[in-house]
Amino acid sequence: RTVYVNGEFVAEEAAKISVFDRGFIFADGVYEVSSVIGGKLIDNAAHLARLARSCKALSIDLPASGDEITAIQKELITRNDLDEGVVYLQVTRGAADRDFPFPKVATPSLVMFTQVKTLVASKAAEAGIRVITTPDLRWGRCDIKTVQLLGAVLAKQAAADAGVDDAWFVDAGGDVTEGSSNNAYIVKDGRIITRALSTALLPGITRASVVKLAAETGMTIEERPFTVAEAQGADEAFVTSATTFVTPVIRIDGAKVGAGTPGPVARRLREIYINHALKTAV
Ligand code: PLP
Repeated sequence: RTVYVNGEFVAEEAAKISVFDRGFIFADGVYEVSSVIGGKLIDNAAHLARLARSCKALSIDLPASGDEITAIQKELITRNDLDEGVVYLQVTRGAADRDFPFPKVATPSLVMFTQVKTLVASKAAEAGIRVITTPDLRWGRCDIKTVQLLGAVLAKQAAADAGVDDAWFVDAGGDVTEGSSNNAYIVKDGRIITRALSTALLPGITRASVVKLAAETGMTIEERPFTVAEAQGADEAFVTSATTFVTPVIRIDGAKVGAGTPGPVARRLREIYINHALKTAV
């Protein structure tokens, strides 16, 4: 596999990053994951816009323009002959002697790699996933897509230990914030309910597309918090992300959601989203 590191395409075995890179030392960096179907990028312009926003929030100078980044993403897709999967990209503040404040001189690092993944014909989407809920122990700026992902790592490990697929974070007030690496939704009486954007959750690119597509289709979206009990009593539940598109949730903490099988709203939204992805991929 060829990866991209600071201006160069190299074999993954030959790729090098400094041990003083602040991404490694402080998780002082941000990332994006764009999906690829048929060798083309999905919703990529929106991912790069969020990358710019994340960098701005942390005063990291993006080391390349959006067009330059897209060209690198495409070159990696070509070199790795990627048909379906993801392009991961990460920007960190760069390498400097270890000290907390921003270094006076540091050149941001830009790293990208590809991963092969089956996205469209997903078994998880077909069967639906089971989630547990877990206290949201993350920091106060979950709207920035930083590489500090220990909250998600521990939540996903807890899910694996419990023998289920994923975890939903629950805030101190008992409301669901989002999934460990996706946005969370429930459906009740035909209405789609998802938490409004704030510093408590990531503004998902797939969320933005799905909310827009659902509205265009005449579906009703209610942006408000919901509790675990409300989710367990909903007709349907689902998650969205770049890699899962729209994936039904069939059990929450062991309780069946609706009939305990993927519901019609989630199925329909998945179909609509994939159509949009295929139509707009570049
Ligand atoms: N929420 C969190 C915490 C995430 O990590 C992700 C994606 O990785 C999402 C939501 C979904 O965002 P997107 O649709 O942009 O992939």
